[in-house]
Amino acid sequence: MSRKLQFQCPTCGSADVFYSCEPKCCFNHVCAECKTTFEPVTLLASKDRRRIDAPDPPPECTEPTVACCVCESVRVFLDDDDALVCMDCGAVLKMELTDVTA
Ligand SMILES: [Zn+2]
Ligand SMILES: [Zn+2]
Ligand SMILES: [Zn+2]
Repeated sequence: MSRKLQFQCPTCGSADVFYSCEPKCCFNHVCAECKTTFEPVTLLASKDRRRIDAPDPPPECTEPTVACCVCESVRVFLDDDDALVCMDCGAVLKMELTDVTA
């Protein structure tokens, strides 16, 4: 079983971060503590492909979300060893936070 994504505010380190938009627009996230906004992007981390199952329960639409840089799926979750994996194409990804506005 995979786990839902979780990331921390790049300014204050709070995990109280929510996704404020929708995948067809952008990936803007907001920190509930300090109001920093940022957008996570993914990069291919390895040539390996993995199969993962969806987390249970599935994430709500305001929970942290990123798009796979290979297939643009937003079904990207954490595997047992904390690797970021796209459930749709199996790509192993890493994440960067961009457009950080404190
Ligand atoms: Zn913050
Ligand atoms: Zn937007
Ligand atoms: Zn993918």
